[in-house]
Amino acid sequence: MRKNIVAGNWKMNKNLQEGVAFAKELEKALAGKTLKCDVVIGTPFIHLASVASAIDTNKIGVSAQNCADKVSGAYTGEVSAAMVASTGAKYVILGHSERRAYYGETDATLKEKVLLALENGLKPIFCIGEVLEERESGKQNEVVKSQIENALFNLSAEQFANIVLAYEPVWAIGTGKTATPAQAQEMHAFIRETLAAKFGKEAADNTTILYGGSANASNAKELFSNPDVDGGLIGGASLDVEKFLPIIEAF
Ligand code: PEP
Repeated sequence: MRKNIVAGNWKMNKNLQEGVAFAKELEKALAGKTLKCDVVIGTPFIHLASVASAIDTNKIGVSAQNCADKVSGAYTGEVSAAMVASTGAKYVILGHSERRAYYGETDATLKEKVLLALENGLKPIFCIGEVLEERESGKQNEVVKSQIENALFNLSAEQFANIVLAYEPVWAIGTGKTATPAQAQEMHAFIRETLAAKFGKEAADNTTILYGGSANASNAKELFSNPDVDGGLIGGASLDVEKFLPIIEAF
């Protein structure tokens, strides 16, 4: 059975003290509640160790937002998957559209990052999604399929079992323009079919596929009620506990 997950992506927001305070406040807000999803917070690198030691990471998973495509060595400014894992983080967001667009991340680099994350015991939250132009020309399935094929189809079924996917139509990220629940369901079903053709139906059925793109407390319930939408990757609405909590509770 696949897990439902609500994961926050803070991007480049919050200083260290604000990040730790948020994590403690969220832990307090969740205490004693029975949740129908796992909760993850994606923090900047420098927050990882402090956040992971401030909370119970079995209750709130901690995630990096990136890791290096190299093991170690002379790569000034980079942070390796092993370093991320050593902080107590359990996840790493990889292939976010902002990394692809602003930092030139390609399917080839992402393939290396995924392998290193897995070797170090991290669960990648692997982002895929089309830009507006591709959606308008009806190419969204083709684009998403090739992103999956190029970065993940080299994995064994055993390795693939540790991947969480996040479908994030780029035109919906930070724009306030959410995919309709029908658009999300249609793409998630297509992604699951694509996975089934490569890794088998059982593996596809066990894969958590998150939706991301202007999800918030008002639309989360409807988005999450789709059979193939297993939760959300949340940007803007993950920055305040009072906005993030109702999304977690939408399940
Ligand atoms: C994201 O950056 O992954 C995201 C989904 O952002 P937002 O929720 O702000 O659209």
